[in-house]
Amino acid sequence: MQHNHPFPGVTEITPTANIRVPVHGGRAKCLQRLVRLGLPVPRTLALNFDTVASVGAGERLDCAGILAAMDPEMPLVSVRPSTAQPDWGGPSTLLNIGMTDRTHDLLQRSIGVQAADAIYARFIQAYALQISRLDPHIFDGQTTIRALQKAYEAALDEPFPQDPALQLADVLKSMARAWDGTTARLLREARGAPADAGLGLVVQQMVMGVGDPERGESGSGVIQFVNSAEGQPQITGRYLNQSQGREALLKDVPALYLTRDKRGPSLEERAPEIFEALQDHGAICRQRLREEMQIEFTVSHGTLHILDALRVKRSARAALRIAVALATDGIIPEAEAVLRIAPRTLLDVLHPQVDPEGTFEVFGKGIAASPGAATGRLVFTAADAQSAAAREERCVLVRRETTPGDVLGMHASVGILTQRGGATSHAAVIARGLGLPCVVGANTLHIDLREKTLTADDGTQLKAGDLVTLDGSAGRIIRGAAPLLEPAMDPAFRTLLNWADEQRDISIRANCDTPAEARVADRFQADGIGLCRTEHMFFEEGRLTVMREMIFAARPEDRRAALEQLLPVQRADFKELFTIMAGRPVCIRLLDPPLHEFLPTDRAGMLSLAAALDLPLSAVTERVQSLTEVNPMLGMRGVRLGIAVPEIYEMQARAIFEAALATEPRVAPEIMIPLVSAKREVEIVRARIAAVADAIEVETGQSVDYALGVMVETPRAALRAGEIADCATFLSFGTNDLTQMTYGLSRDDAGRFMSAYVGQGVFPDDPFLQLDTDGVGELLEIGAARGRAARPSMTLSLCGEHGGDPDSIAFCRRLGFDYVSCSPFRVPVARMAAAHLAI
Ligand code: PEP
Ligand code: MG
Repeated sequence: MQHNHPFPGVTEITPTANIRVPVHGGRAKCLQRLVRLGLPVPRTLALNFDTVASVGAGERLDCAGILAAMDPEMPLVSVRPSTAQPDWGGPSTLLNIGMTDRTHDLLQRSIGVQAADAIYARFIQAYALQISRLDPHIFDGQTTIRALQKAYEAALDEPFPQDPALQLADVLKSMARAWDGTTARLLREARGAPADAGLGLVVQQMVMGVGDPERGESGSGVIQFVNSAEGQPQITGRYLNQSQGREALLKDVPALYLTRDKRGPSLEERAPEIFEALQDHGAICRQRLREEMQIEFTVSHGTLHILDALRVKRSARAALRIAVALATDGIIPEAEAVLRIAPRTLLDVLHPQVDPEGTFEVFGKGIAASPGAATGRLVFTAADAQSAAAREERCVLVRRETTPGDVLGMHASVGILTQRGGATSHAAVIARGLGLPCVVGANTLHIDLREKTLTADDGTQLKAGDLVTLDGSAGRIIRGAAPLLEPAMDPAFRTLLNWADEQRDISIRANCDTPAEARVADRFQADGIGLCRTEHMFFEEGRLTVMREMIFAARPEDRRAALEQLLPVQRADFKELFTIMAGRPVCIRLLDPPLHEFLPTDRAGMLSLAAALDLPLSAVTERVQSLTEVNPMLGMRGVRLGIAVPEIYEMQARAIFEAALATEPRVAPEIMIPLVSAKREVEIVRARIAAVADAIEVETGQSVDYALGVMVETPRAALRAGEIADCATFLSFGTNDLTQMTYGLSRDDAGRFMSAYVGQGVFPDDPFLQLDTDGVGELLEIGAARGRAARPSMTLSLCGEHGGDPDSIAFCRRLGFDYVSCSPFRVPVARMAAAHLAI
């Protein structure tokens, strides 16, 4: 027996009863809060999880006693589920339990024949379907109570139960058993419920929303005080006179409006005092429950009853506005508003999304590599994408995989789809930087580049020019134009992020390669640039040819001449970055990719290059071949290029220094050396960069202030961080390459088997998306500890794609990192995630 009710495991919901969410579920607790606030809630009992479980196992409660304790005159109750989390499902609510021939007679007297008949008829059918699990067709064509009872009896070989207590016992047992069924279990486990999640039930005395019109207004409805889609204050909901439960919400019933409306009658006009009371109750709930609630109510002969209240369902952007409004009104602290918004949901606010309510046809699936959604016409080459953009046509670029040569085409597209590749493949990284939706690894689709077609497993086909919607948030390719929800970067968004910044204790920088990206980083208030991949600057119109000239140069002086042309261009880029970031730190990485990535791959490209450089085609093909490597990711790239072809890094260092000297206020650039594996590499490059700085000092009379650091991207660099620390003031962990090299897992090919690996539980997650804190993480730990031991002032950071992932940020923060750097569009998520960790 629990305190105040004579039935074990059954507690009457009173202000002082011991009702707890982990024992009775959230609905029971919420009802108790409403009772405590003095709201007119009908008498309600809560059955705890253990009691419901034992009912499911066959134990019988004293239901006659329970009904007698409610209202012996009119034993009618409703039963609703009450789970620890509202989205874990549970059986549907059942109303009017206790309807029998006898209660029907009684009801006829209090609410009239027609209303009593309607309630009884509906109850017989609901009971038959939900509790006796009969087929709805048995009632086809039957409308009278007698006929319905006969159909019930014919199907079950027993009469419709005439004992309210027996009905209640069967309802409780049926609901308890349904909770243990496979479907319910799978559904809730998919939503994160533990295997032993309990079900509580709430038994509430029925209040009749149907009644004698002579005795005043009767009806039922739901009301809420904010808009679920946008989150702004607005009274919405529906009310239906002479109704019960959530009938008013059925699409095909002509319910009343709540507020005055030109289109028809409203509750406000029909029963102004009820409408006013509802508003008062709503305001009390908001203030005291510290949440926007949807209230379910019944009006019975002019009296208002509050049956239930639920947290208002809300879109990501509404959630954000509601949290900010509650904090602005002083109802919750600002830090709590920050905590109420899951960092990843900000992505839904920042990018257009496919409207989940809309209808559309999914053509194929792949890995969701960059969030957002966009509609455009299919193109199959970067050149076609550029021509589409020139015609101001929106296009989705489809490639087997992308290479740096596709970057201009990617800029010209609204979305990118690749058949191969994983979460850190070229396509994924570039798309995230550009803020474009991207789906990679769509390996069930067949791409025919010659025919320009895309064929699905079932043989259906799309061709160049067809309209598709690419959903980079869910990894879907949708045929045609799916309905989209537009992004909202409103004042509430900014306010919330400013509150987040007051809490966090790790900096968030952005990976920006171009001034356009730096502007995005600035808009999202990044603390600086943590990685500028300079190679992307060379793919812009006009620069590629000079870059190729440099690569083709036979002698160092020819190479220098080509680099001379690139110098002013780079200088201007860096100056623009420094200016946009206005004094915030900017970390520039020297050239990283193998040179052949700048060269054409097909005959047509080689022909036009031969023409541009005035060389025979054979010279071009030979040079391309000579630069081709068996395993370019482990070949001549990064610092190896810097050691072997020193002129490139020298030009870049000069461009950086000259840009810094020309910027006001003066900046101290950070220069970062990629793919280091040995201290000696750093010593050599450091000496060359120092020589450039000295030369500039001699030329200009001004000294340049800069920091030199190392990207830790090879396992050896992490292990030798102690000695590398002698010649670096910062270490930035490039976890894309570090993951690739620690696992021996190709970034560009892992997409082929990653879903099988994750599906079969070989890896818990794709390690290119979720930092592998065990293996790669141990290298981070070792590198950080050895680096800091040798140089206590060492700045530590992470700049791989993991930088925007909340769990990876938590890991870096635990290791005492100074900052993480992520793609600019993920900066808001990272700022929120960092704040959550610090609160
Ligand atoms: C890395 O390897 O983690 C990194 C940031 O560099 P990139 O992705 O350009 O190789
Ligand atoms: Mg790298």
